[in-house]
Amino acid sequence: MKAKELLKKAREKGVAIGAFNVGNLETFKAITQAAENLKSPVLIEASPGEAGFIGLKQLVYLARAYEDQIQLPVILNLDHGENVETILEAIKTGFDYVHYDGSKFSYEENLENASIVVEEAHKKEVMVEGEIDHIEGSSADHSRENTKMYSKPELFTDPREAKEFVEKTGIDVFASFIGNLHGIYADIIHLNLDKLKEISTALPHTYLSLHGGSGVYDDDVRNAIKMGIVKVNVNSELRVAFKMTLQEEIGKTTEIAPYKYMKRPIEEVQKVVETKMKLFGSPELLK
Ligand SMILES: [Zn+2]
Repeated sequence: MKAKELLKKAREKGVAIGAFNVGNLETFKAITQAAENLKSPVLIEASPGEAGFIGLKQLVYLARAYEDQIQLPVILNLDHGENVETILEAIKTGFDYVHYDGSKFSYEENLENASIVVEEAHKKEVMVEGEIDHIEGSSADHSRENTKMYSKPELFTDPREAKEFVEKTGIDVFASFIGNLHGIYADIIHLNLDKLKEISTALPHTYLSLHGGSGVYDDDVRNAIKMGIVKVNVNSELRVAFKMTLQEEIGKTTEIAPYKYMKRPIEEVQKVVETKMKLFGSPELLK
C-alpha cells in the first residue's frame, strides 16, 4: 500500500501516520521494530543533513530491506529538502515522498521550485509536501528556551495564501505553521486549533501534515488529527532518547562492541516511536 492510499485511509479513519527521522542504522532498527510490534505502517524520513550522512541510495535500500523484513508498508520521505536538485535525485533514486521546503525563499521562488518538484514527482507517483511559512525552531535541545520566543501568531499560516499555493503548485500535502515548533522546549506546546480548522476548511482536498510532533500536548495532537492532520513528524524526542541512553550505557560499561551497547538506545527510541504510533492511531490503518 503506497503513500497516497495510506493517507487517504488515514483521513477516512481519522488517524495519522507517524513520520520519524532516521539518523543512523540504529534509528532505522528502532522505528521498524516499533512498526512490526504494533503492526503499523510507518513513514521514515531523512533531512538533507541525515540523507547526506547516510546516502540517498543507502536510504532507499535500507527502507526496502526493512519493509521486506517486517512485511508492512514503509514510506520513505526526504524531509525539508531545500535544494531542488537533491529532491529530484531522491525521486530518481526511489523515494516514495518528498517534502520541498521553500519557506526560506521568496514566495515566487518557492512556488516555482515546488511546481518543478511536483511535475517530476508525479511522473513517478511520488507524493509532494510543501509549505509557505517557516516552521520555527530546530530539531535540537531548546530545553532552556520558552516556546513564546518562536511561536508568534503573526507568522502562522494564512489559509487564503495556503489555498493559492496548493492550487498553483499541485502539491499533495501541506505543512502549516500553527504554533507547532521543531525541537523540545522548557514548556509544552499548544497548537492553534482554530487556525488549523480554517486551513482544513480552505483546503478540503489537500492532505495536512503536522511538523514538530515532539513536546506538544497529546490532546492537541489528538484534536489536530480529528481535524484533518494525516501525517505527524517526530524527530527531537527520538534524538533525545537515543543520545541520553547511549550516554548512560557508555558511562557504565567497558564494552567496546557497538551492537552490545547500542541495544538499549535502540529499545528506548523504539518505545518513543510506539507511544507516538498509538497516539496517532496508525496501527488502525491496516485493520
Ligand atoms: Zn519539520
